[in-house]
Amino acid sequence: MTLTRFVRRAYSLRLALILQVLVPLALLLAAATWVGMKALESSLEERLEEDVQLIARAIRLPVSHSLEREEEEAVRQALESVFTIGRVYGAYVYDRRGEQVAAVGAVKPSAAERNRLQALAEEGRDTGEYELIEGRQVYSYFIPLVDTGGRISGLLQVTRRQSDFADYVSGIQRQAGLAALLTTLIIGALVLVGHRTAIGRHMAQLSHSMAQVEAGNRGHRAREQGPRELRQLSGAYNQMLDSIQRAEQELLERQRREAELERALASSKRLAALGRLSAGVAHELGTPLSVIDGQSQRGLRDPDLSPPASKAFRRIRSEVDRMSQIVQQLLDFGRPSNGEWRMLTVRDLVQRVAHTQMESDRARGARIDWVPPAEDGLMVRGHPMRLEQALTNLVQNAIHAANGGCVRIRWGRVGDRVALWVEDDGPGVPEGDRARLFEPFFTTKPVGEGTGLGLAVVHGIAQEHGGDVRLLPDSELGGACFRLSLPAADEQQKDEGSS
Ligand code: ADP
Repeated sequence: MTLTRFVRRAYSLRLALILQVLVPLALLLAAATWVGMKALESSLEERLEEDVQLIARAIRLPVSHSLEREEEEAVRQALESVFTIGRVYGAYVYDRRGEQVAAVGAVKPSAAERNRLQALAEEGRDTGEYELIEGRQVYSYFIPLVDTGGRISGLLQVTRRQSDFADYVSGIQRQAGLAALLTTLIIGALVLVGHRTAIGRHMAQLSHSMAQVEAGNRGHRAREQGPRELRQLSGAYNQMLDSIQRAEQELLERQRREAELERALASSKRLAALGRLSAGVAHELGTPLSVIDGQSQRGLRDPDLSPPASKAFRRIRSEVDRMSQIVQQLLDFGRPSNGEWRMLTVRDLVQRVAHTQMESDRARGARIDWVPPAEDGLMVRGHPMRLEQALTNLVQNAIHAANGGCVRIRWGRVGDRVALWVEDDGPGVPEGDRARLFEPFFTTKPVGEGTGLGLAVVHGIAQEHGGDVRLLPDSELGGACFRLSLPAADEQQKDEGSS
């Protein structure tokens, strides 16, 4: 489910509340009102029928007496008295044959009913029924009249219009309907307001947070507030965002590492190929160079040698010497250290390199300091010549850059490694050259002064020994600071080395 759908669903919660709670509640209320009204209606009908029956029974005796004595006026008066007792529509008296004797009220029954009335009178028992009199629905209650001898002397009919009940009932129905509607509205308002206060606004905030995240604000987190369930939901949502972010970061990191590995692999393949080529070239050049040098030496020993020829031979020897150095560098670059590895004290290594360089005429008057660490006696395991070569290359570069200034060598333990820092007070490495420093044949020195293999050789030797070399961003002396780090020899290796 996308976030947008989730947000929409959160908003449709109110609709669901209305549809699933309020509508059923309203229907239930309506049904309850309807059932109540039906019950009320029938009980009212019963009561109103009872009223008519009571009225009829109340006047039965006086009407019977008056009829027996054939006092029509008295019968009539008795009939009229019912109008004072209750809401009666009409009252009629019939003799035993169904002939109407007296009638009071709005509608008079037709003569066509005589036979039925006679039958009712003869039947001699009370009867109540709904009937149509002149197109109006009425309730009639028939009660037989008896003379003093106990014989049936006639029939009394008291009627009441059915619309009287209906009007009354529909009035009550209207009120009950209105009350039900009002109750529904009040409950609805309470439920909606309650929903808004307890859930709605928190849901709205959560939805707002989701919209923010969806719009790209990945760091945004929902506030954990409101009822427990919503707090849990917000918490779970935040956790989900955290783990997505973590997974994304891990993926990016993995991609970065893979790219780095690929680059390193490609570079080491390139270096290996270059190394093989260099070793081949150096090997081929070695023999002719020693022949040239040998021939020059022999030439110089000739007693008849003229001064210009002697000068030329010396020049040849000096150039051959330079070429031999280049060949040596090519060999260093291309040849893996296959000699014997042993334990080396870093202090000895540093001192050896520093002394050699200070004594060499390449030092150009530079001062070389070395600063032993507090934890002296640090050792590394490796190929002595190759490690010396690596440190020499770094120191020679520093001497060249310092140009008569100051070079400093420090070393110390960094975790499980021994780091050697070689720094100078020269001009440092320009920003643009930093990325290419360790590439073979990269040099900024004039032709004849640099081969661009020094740092590539250091890099190769560091890798052979499981270490690395890098240019640090700053140097205390103001120039460049290279750090060569190698795995420190552990106690067991030290014991093996000293035994
Ligand atoms: P080379 O010394 O033959 O040029 P390197 O591989 O030893 O080859 O050095 C490559 C380049 O790195 C140098 O030409 C120089 O520009 C730069 N470099 C090395 N060491 C330093 C240093 N200490 N200060 C400034 N630049 C340096």
